[in-house]
Amino acid sequence: SAPGREVRVVVTAERPRRRTIAVASGKGGVGKSTVSANLAIALSQIGRRVGLVDADIYGPSQPRLLGVEGTRPEAKDKVLLPVQTPFGVPLLSMGQLVAPGKAIAWRGPMTAGALGQLMDAEWGVADTLVVDLPPGTGDVQLTMIQKHRPAGAVIVCTPQDLALIDATRAIDLFEQAGVPIIGVIENMAGYACPHCGEVSDPFGCGGAEAAAKARGVPFLGRVPLDIAIRRASDAGDPPAADPADRTFRPIAEQVVRWL
Ligand code: ADP
Repeated sequence: SAPGREVRVVVTAERPRRRTIAVASGKGGVGKSTVSANLAIALSQIGRRVGLVDADIYGPSQPRLLGVEGTRPEAKDKVLLPVQTPFGVPLLSMGQLVAPGKAIAWRGPMTAGALGQLMDAEWGVADTLVVDLPPGTGDVQLTMIQKHRPAGAVIVCTPQDLALIDATRAIDLFEQAGVPIIGVIENMAGYACPHCGEVSDPFGCGGAEAAAKARGVPFLGRVPLDIAIRRASDAGDPPAADPADRTFRPIAEQVVRWL
């Protein structure tokens, strides 16, 4: 370089290669939040460093599912610090940004701002962010896609849902935006008998898998309708945290292979 000119090399700490997985559904009540929580925990059990973002403005239920209901995140220099959970998966939720019990009635720009605060929080060493999106195809999904570029999307549906138009719309939204579909998870697939555990199929079986294939997207697996899952979720004790879990782990393994 020219004499008298100082050349400075600035070494910045390498940012971890963080991959965002958006979890979406066509409509509410299909178990998207339940699946997001358990997928996040199962991913962390097989070695990913996972953070969970609860962006479901209509029903932010992750603090309850992960047993940290009522917690509020702190902030450092206006950057939010995720709340630690007993499952090794730090969490931030839209529900933690508003007063407890208050409905979230935000307009688009506020929602986008709030989502930005959650996504750009101090996630530390996390290499994977699982984002529980609201159902449907609204503002939060668009901001997620445009500003935060997920690596891929996981679509949660029920056996009746994928053949119908709802889940397909969610798939379309991501595909049109160039976000790859990691795969479809069929939830409430068959009914697990609370007495013997045997899974029966009151609505038939294989519909979502066939519909996913027909749509050209991978099928990641099914989660039975199981009262134990509902009870454990309500108690803040996600089934995927059990080392003996064989429902969510194989799904998480497929997601890791995809990443
Ligand atoms: P969403 O996020 O799609 O609105 P939730 O995850 O909140 O759905 O689930 C809706 C209700 O269904 C909750 O009470 C939850 O505990 C229950 N639930 C979800 N998945 C299952 C399942 N596989 N077996 C039993 N109950 C389930």
